[in-house]
This record gives sequence, C-alpha cells and structure tokens, in this order.
Amino acid sequence: MVDVRGVHKGFGPLKVLRGVDLQVRTGEVTVILGPSGSGKSTLLRAINHLEKVNRGWISIDGELIGYRRSGDKLYELREKDILRQRTHIGFVFQNFNLFPHLTALENIVEAPISALRRPRKAAVVAAERLLERVGLADKAGAYPRQLSGGQQQRVAIARALALEPKVLLFDEPTSALDPELVGEVLDVIKDLTRTGTTMIIVTHEVSFAREVADTVVFLDGGVVVEQGPPASVLDAPQHERTRAFLSKVL
Ligand code: ATP
Ligand code: MG
Repeated sequence: MVDVRGVHKGFGPLKVLRGVDLQVRTGEVTVILGPSGSGKSTLLRAINHLEKVNRGWISIDGELIGYRRSGDKLYELREKDILRQRTHIGFVFQNFNLFPHLTALENIVEAPISALRRPRKAAVVAAERLLERVGLADKAGAYPRQLSGGQQQRVAIARALALEPKVLLFDEPTSALDPELVGEVLDVIKDLTRTGTTMIIVTHEVSFAREVADTVVFLDGGVVVEQGPPASVLDAPQHERTRAFLSKVL
C-alpha cells in the first residue's frame, strides 16, 4: 500500500501541498485529477522523494520513503538508500525521458542490469517480453528519435515495468502526444490495470479515469477535496470545486 499522511510541501512562500492524505491499496488504480498548479506533479515527485516534504510522511508497503524514523524524529536517508527505494517506484513522465543515445531495448535493460544487477541475458529476455506487451516487439533496435511519441511513451512504460515496481506513477503520460497517438498509450495502461499493478495516474482524460480507476482523487489548492469510486466523484461530485472543475474538462 502507498500511504501518504499529512504531507505539506512549499516552495518558499508558495504552499503547494497543504496536508495531503492518500492511501492506495496494492493492486489498485488511483487517478488524480485537478487544475493546473494544484500540486499533482509535486505529489507524485514527493512519493518518489524527488521532492522533500516539509511535513508528514509517505510509506510504501510499510517502508518510509526518503527517511528513517528514530524516536519521533525523521532523518533523511543516504543517497544510495534513496536510489534503492526509487528502483521500486516506476515513474512515467509526460515527456518520455528516454535515453536518446540508447535503443528501445537498451533503454529497458539499463536499470535492471545496473541497479538490480540482473544478468544481461535475463534482462534482455525480460525486455523483449515487455516490448511485446506494449506492442513494440519489432522496435527493439530503434532509437527514440526513430519512434513516434506514442511509441516512445510505450517504451518508457516498458522501461518502468522492467524494475517490477511496487507502484507505477504516471504524470500526464499522454498530454505531450498528438491526439491520434493518445489511444495507443491509454490502451497499454488499461491493459496493465488488468494485471494488478498498483498505479497512481495523473491525467486529464476523464473518460479514461472512469474506465480504469478504482479511486478518483480530486486535488485542489494542495488538498484532497474529494475522493471515491469514479461513479461518485465523476458522476455525483459532492463538492462545488469538483463540479466546477469537471464542468470545464468534460
Ligand atoms: P499541471 O496540471 O500544470 O501539471 P500540477 O498540479 O502538476 O500542474 P505542480 O507542478 O505540482 O502542479 O505545481 C504546483 C505549484 O508549485 C505551481 O504553482 C508551480 O509553479 C510550483 N512549483 C512546482 N515545482 C516548483 C519548484 N521546484 N520551485 C518553485 N515552485 C514550484
Ligand atoms: Mg503537473
């Protein structure tokens, strides 16, 4: 389970997260919606300890992220322990972030070999299987520049899966894509939801949220305004702010 408790995060005077609580059960899919600037990316980055929180804490399967507890104090972990924790947290970015000088296959095997010390042969076999799963079995040798945005994003998803993450975080995985390429990436993510991968997905694709989410979270002003199954949050929102947001994006 991903457990986010009372998380505050500010940048100087700007308070971005103001006490976020969020629990994502293992195997479940949570979709986070919210206006631009509401702190969605900051929250995902905090889960990965790419942002240090100012207050509160985050744990995954009972393990504190970024810190260790001693008495009632939290101490930041050493870089190497933070990196070890990150290998269990997959992150798929808006802009794919593939290594441009590596082929699709090399992008996928890099971390399993260097971070998990997998033998190269086993990593390659696993990567080939993952490429097949995202519909790119024939693109193993292609470089990112030779792939469409949708194909690059599917490689990025395969790369994240190669670490067998405890949770997979997606930050607007389709918003940098041409409209005709959005569907192929959403289909791959949808397919993953059937395999019981724990996922937290930030997206503006409301109809996709309705289809795949176990829980929809509406974040606004740095707090969770409303959360619940799609049928309640999307179709019968209780809060005026949720209604106002949905009336703009639907
Ligand atoms: P969007 O939908 O546009 O991606 P978001 O909900 O992901 O928005 P965040 O990226 O989390 O929003 O940003 C929340 C606020 O925090 C914004 O006002 C942003 O400018 C600010 N912010 C984010 N990162 C930093 C930073 N490193 N330094 C200063 N301000 C930041
Ligand atoms: Mg964002």
